[in-house]
Amino acid sequence: GWISSAIDPQGQCFLSRFERGMAVYLGSGQAVAAVNGTSALHVALLLAGVEPGDEVLVPDLTFVAPANAVRYAGAWPVFIDVEPDHWQLDPEKTANFLARECVSARDGLYNRHTGRRVRALLPVDLLGHPVDMDALLAIANRHDLVVVEDATESLGARYKGRPVGRLAGLSCLSFNGNKLLTTGGGGMLICDDPAQAQRARYYVTQA
Ligand SMILES: *Cc1c(COP(=O)(O)O)cnc(C)c1O
Repeated sequence: GWISSAIDPQGQCFLSRFERGMAVYLGSGQAVAAVNGTSALHVALLLAGVEPGDEVLVPDLTFVAPANAVRYAGAWPVFIDVEPDHWQLDPEKTANFLARECVSARDGLYNRHTGRRVRALLPVDLLGHPVDMDALLAIANRHDLVVVEDATESLGARYKGRPVGRLAGLSCLSFNGNKLLTTGGGGMLICDDPAQAQRARYYVTQA
């Protein structure tokens, strides 16, 4: 049979079984495998509606991949500091940045310094530890921003009983050689909406 690829109407190939197994492990969601974690992040940002010239808030302590994914989407990373106790994206600093350094317009929130639209938050569950996602989701909700969770370093961790990889509507995993679960190289996008998963599949198979 097939290891991967779209020529698999019954969904029996190795990759389809891996995707289903991950969704079962996480308890819910639609899983779409990608060539690596960075590409899963790139696709997640496109699904989040990030457009060229937008800005995405990224923690300043992380691996470079999330910032690169933002650039691949044609957008710009804006670095927000982490909190001192667990080294994860600081909700208070995020809220302060959005409240003080940004202005609301009819079509979104704009960074008053750069004039660019702020579209999404990209928190990273860094070094096996979850971010304080409830606080970040509340902030994102207040400003109508999308959250993409970078769970690439923390598969298996839980936040208030919920598994990382399911803390936001869009989450990404990596199976690179240095990660908790590896396929040598690989990644996965996890989302709620089957239509969004369909869209992700369109992107990861060269559209
Ligand atoms: C490893 C990692 C990724 C994705 O890595 P790939 O090598 O592209 O699979 C993304 N974000 C963070 C924080 C990482 O550590």
